[in-house]
Amino acid sequence: MSYQRRPRRVLNNPSMGPPPPKQPPTPPAGAVTASKIAKIIDEADIPYFLWGWLILTLHVTEIKVPEIEFVIPDDKLEAATNALVAAGYPQCESETCVELHIDRTAGTGEGGNEGGLELLHSEYRFHPVAGAHFHHFQDERKNVTELIALLPKNDIAPWLPELKVGSPAQEDPDFMLSTDPSLPKSRGGAWGPWTELHPVKIQNRASYTESFLWLSCRDIDRDNNLGMRWMAMWRRLLDVEMWVQMLREKWHPIWGDGMVSIVELLKVREKMIKDGELPKDLPKVVVEDYAGR
Ligand SMILES: [Zn+2]
Repeated sequence: MSYQRRPRRVLNNPSMGPPPPKQPPTPPAGAVTASKIAKIIDEADIPYFLWGWLILTLHVTEIKVPEIEFVIPDDKLEAATNALVAAGYPQCESETCVELHIDRTAGTGEGGNEGGLELLHSEYRFHPVAGAHFHHFQDERKNVTELIALLPKNDIAPWLPELKVGSPAQEDPDFMLSTDPSLPKSRGGAWGPWTELHPVKIQNRASYTESFLWLSCRDIDRDNNLGMRWMAMWRRLLDVEMWVQMLREKWHPIWGDGMVSIVELLKVREKMIKDGELPKDLPKVVVEDYAGR
């Protein structure tokens, strides 16, 4: 405990004054809403995990995207939707909502009708279409809208084991809680575990990274907009030590010479298609076309 040492430091350096009071880290935008939604889903006994941009904030760096994505077992999607509606979150039922397209600018003219040019050039433009979604206003003046999206597990991570309710076990290979003290600590911004909020189930960093590698393999040459989006996500998660030590063995060949080899990733993809770990009907990718990338 450093309490005993502090008075001596102050005596030796009178200009320093007493240390500032310790403030808990501010949770990032979206965390409060995510935590409230997780509590509703937990109380309805529905398994889930929080996914998407907010997890990047917990594991790597703060990304300010007003999108809160939960992955729900396909057969529990309706029950989760009903639980949110019952808790006062009206489901969007607009047939013309931009959220119904992978490209949020589709059919809305250049830049779409909400974010304009900013949206056209942002990573937020392309996204997996949710099974159900909600537009949630952060304040009564309706200044900031957050998107709450419920995504079917079979569309995002069918390779993960069946989701369970309750807290993950200490040694769970895929899941942890948003309150876990092993998450990177605050560096002065909106960082660190969300210790002041209801615990939210998330993937650990390795499993989260693997989910984007798997999606990249599924969507390359099938939907390149989504493919690029997934690639942008795992590139943010690149970390030599973590990739070599923590990713499951099948992903190890893709790492070499300090960078990821797309050719090796495509070879892993071919093997996964053969082994039934990816859909059989994916387009045939010419591996050589990607040499040197
Ligand atoms: Zn909508």
